[in-house]
Amino acid sequence: MDIHLISHLVVFVMSEIGTYYALDFGGTNFRVLRVQLGGRRSSILSQDVEQRPIPQHLMTSTSEDLFDFIASTLKQFVEKEENGSEPSSVRTRELGLTFSFPVRQLSIHSGILIKWTKGFAIEDMVGKEVVGLLEAALVRSGLDMRAAVLVNDAVGTLALGHYDDADTVAAVIIGTGTNACYLERADAIIKCQGHLITSGCMAVNMEWGNFWSSHLPRTSYDIDLDLESPNPNDQGFEKMISGIYLGDIVRRVILRMSQESDIFGPVSSRLSVPFILQAPLLAAMHEDDSPELKEVDKILKETLEISEVSLKVRKLVVRICDVVTRRAARLAAAGIAGNLEEDWTGWKWRYMMFREYLHEALNEILGEDVAQHVILKVTEDGSGIGGALLAAANSSSGVDNVQ
Ligand code: BGC
Ligand code: MG
Repeated sequence: MDIHLISHLVVFVMSEIGTYYALDFGGTNFRVLRVQLGGRRSSILSQDVEQRPIPQHLMTSTSEDLFDFIASTLKQFVEKEENGSEPSSVRTRELGLTFSFPVRQLSIHSGILIKWTKGFAIEDMVGKEVVGLLEAALVRSGLDMRAAVLVNDAVGTLALGHYDDADTVAAVIIGTGTNACYLERADAIIKCQGHLITSGCMAVNMEWGNFWSSHLPRTSYDIDLDLESPNPNDQGFEKMISGIYLGDIVRRVILRMSQESDIFGPVSSRLSVPFILQAPLLAAMHEDDSPELKEVDKILKETLEISEVSLKVRKLVVRICDVVTRRAARLAAAGIAGNLEEDWTGWKWRYMMFREYLHEALNEILGEDVAQHVILKVTEDGSGIGGALLAAANSSSGVDNVQ
């Protein structure tokens, strides 16, 4: 567990005016954002977003390569946004860095990478301070910008959720990875005892993706996926729930069926390619409502190069997607229910079947009477915009900086 200080968030953000940048890094894509705040509550005047896939080779290269790439993308974005004009004030541009990996937070604007998740493996970066690496790359690129905050995406999402609706007390991320974060009274947090911070609320980043229990039944597919991943014995809960892994579980099930029967025709070599079946493809097959299952047909033929795709086979594949997704949604629901005290809101993923199964499981676990008080809202770009809001709240030009 890691603790992020956002207790002063609402008070300060309400009074912030100006332009803030955010960099949302932590999954398949990274986003750069520019947010203009109007100084009153809920007055985000405008926001511009640019999204780029993270080139595969950078996920396992060096921290310098990675941050040089990020800094140059950021620089191009800033130049385009400011369109050659001078920034409205002389002050250094400020950035919220949303960095969605386990971090030991040192202050509101610094933290050490504990380990990588979600397929990243840049060895030289583990144990290093993240903002320092970004700022060094910004200097190399010649961009005048400083990072005012370093936050996790779950914390950023909670910040935006809370900004929009003060009743929001928690955020759940179900994306490439999974995590949750909730607001807790500081005096109830053991880690804070003996420290100066004993009043107000804190955002507790649970890093629930690394939850593990022998009560969680793992199949042979889960065990193999874990062993063959860059981080074996790590992120056990995440590997059964999040987007980067679900398609790969489905691929493994189809591969085994294909090896043990002739239902899919000769075994396609594509079925042995790790992560070939990405989450959007899984969702497209699962949610195919055409009577002939055309989308399933297309993906089986084009992506997986399976030759035998009769309607019976396509239906079987939809069933596999359903079982794997439903299990994931039910585990996520168990995570929410198990941590529930009040209303939990804020999560992301545009996968309708996943949402439906999440609601179904919450109703079952909590009973409808309790579950109806759990309001789940989808937050668009919460991690990035939340990062910009927190940058505003902790800006050097702010009334009072949270340290
Ligand atoms: C990371 C978390 C992050 C989550 C969702 C996990 O792999 O450990 O820090 O919040 O993914 O992006
Ligand atoms: Mg993200």
